[in-house]
Amino acid sequence: MKVSMPGRKHIALVAHDNKKADLLEWVETHREALSRHELYATGTTGALLEELLALPVTKLQSGPLGGDQQIGAKIAEGEINFIIFFWDPLEPQPHDPDVKALLRIAVLWNIPVASNLATADFLLSSPFMATEYEKVLPDFTEYRQRLAKPPRLEEE
Ligand code: PGA
Repeated sequence: MKVSMPGRKHIALVAHDNKKADLLEWVETHREALSRHELYATGTTGALLEELLALPVTKLQSGPLGGDQQIGAKIAEGEINFIIFFWDPLEPQPHDPDVKALLRIAVLWNIPVASNLATADFLLSSPFMATEYEKVLPDFTEYRQRLAKPPRLEEE
């Protein structure tokens, strides 16, 4: 099964506190390219981005207050289709389970995810950023129907 990602991507931007400076510098460098997309962010990251870029950013809750989970929900609903997430590999976070859940749901729905600067550079310079992209999705029909039939009762 394929779904179409439009040229205007819906990008979630998130950075843990020790990575916010890296993300801000990166978005400043790529402001023009990013302005062609719809931007979302967790609360604190989003406030910093809006101020720096003077572009509209849909701000969700701060990450530890549920923002990562909101992004995950929007992926499952098909609203967000791209993630730049600079997570901190050197410091545990109070919401580590949420981070893991977000990364899991992103893999499940075949979402491009950049977790560091080099990957973000490579993704943003892809020709698919500006064009429609036909994304392959697994067929979840069998999984959805796995419990649709009542289990056979054991004969006594
Ligand atoms: P913040 O959340 O943008 O509100 O700091 C980021 C995160 O920790 O996931």
